[in-house]
Amino acid sequence: MNMNFCLPTTIITGKNCLASNGELLSRLGSRCIIVTGKSAARRSGALDDLISVLKSEGIEYALFDEIEQNPSYKSCLSAALAAKQMGAEFVVGIGGGSPLDAAKAIAVLAKASDTSPEALYSSKWDAAPLPIVAVGTTAGTGSEVTPVSVITTPNGIKKSFRAPSLYPVLAFGDATYTMSLPPDFTRSTALDALAHCLESYFNRSSNDISRLFAKRGIAILIEMLEKTADCHLTPLSFEDREAIYCASLYGGLAISVTGTAFPHALGYFLSEQYGIPHGNACAVYLEEFIRHNLEVSQEETELLFAELGTDAESLSALIRKNLPDIKISLTEEKIASLLPRYEDNKSLKKCYGNVDKDFAADILRRLFS
Ligand code: NAP
Ligand code: FE
Repeated sequence: MNMNFCLPTTIITGKNCLASNGELLSRLGSRCIIVTGKSAARRSGALDDLISVLKSEGIEYALFDEIEQNPSYKSCLSAALAAKQMGAEFVVGIGGGSPLDAAKAIAVLAKASDTSPEALYSSKWDAAPLPIVAVGTTAGTGSEVTPVSVITTPNGIKKSFRAPSLYPVLAFGDATYTMSLPPDFTRSTALDALAHCLESYFNRSSNDISRLFAKRGIAILIEMLEKTADCHLTPLSFEDREAIYCASLYGGLAISVTGTAFPHALGYFLSEQYGIPHGNACAVYLEEFIRHNLEVSQEETELLFAELGTDAESLSALIRKNLPDIKISLTEEKIASLLPRYEDNKSLKKCYGNVDKDFAADILRRLFS
């Protein structure tokens, strides 16, 4: 038996959950910094809702709305300075994974005396980070319920750090805020959620609880990815959006136990260097991941798919229906230049079978050369 699990995050979901829970915010302090990207927090309606709650609770706030996709260390440091200046007692991130991950980094940088990149990524800080509140506007990363942040280094590398103190204290999941997500990001973020569930299920660190979450997430997404594939023609209903949000939280809960596997590890450079959105960048490897697990762990993989009423081919077809063409081509020199990052890589080691840097090189060749 292994059901080891800890979630220090209070998850609150449903329509208007932010507006009806203002008192939970006032318990965190009387000053906060709000961290968002350029537009989504406003377009989704989440920023207006938050500001009216803060006003009614008498909480002062400052807004930092310059978080970019694949958030950079530099932006996080600027926001942390603003947080310090205003004496913020907590950080509220509104957005997809980018502002939510940035909120985690800002919470660290606003308190730690050493704010260098090395100190940030070391996860060894001399002060506890500020409490973090997460308000999701995409349904994909599950960052609302993970102790992980992925921030782009000053050298342009997406790099993660992880610590129990990075779990948001509060996560608000109101799928209303995902209604404005355009079709391409709806598909890409739903594929990210599927990647989390699959990479967590077939993972050396999985346990009974994480598998339960992962399996439930996959079941929901098998149904929902049929709809997201056509959501540019038939917009998703609120109920569908809510189902996908739910699956994204299951995925987040699952990876909070296990971490991810090779699709995520191999996906990062595609976002850094080719601007491919995170979900697509990881999902492009999912067919390979499914095939690999069928090879090294056939019985377990077939059993899961049978329980879910699917099979490898149907699931792969569903992924293809949601994935745009990724037209990049990598030379042998380029592949060689990427390989150092797969030496001693945690996410590769989590995979079943023998997944190392040569394995990574083979996949990159198969897909992109
Ligand atoms: P994102 O980068 O947060 O956002 C993608 C785009 O969608 C942005 O242009 C954003 O606009 C827009 N957008 C977001 N919500 C919207 C809405 N409701 N309406 C209209 N537009 C909206 O995308 P993401 O896929 O959610 O996050 C990806 C990041 O999360 C990556 O950096 C990845 O590494 C990280 N991640 C973290 C974890 C974890 O456990 N911490 C797990 C997986 C991935 P704005 O720029 O205006 O906001
Ligand atoms: Fe992801």
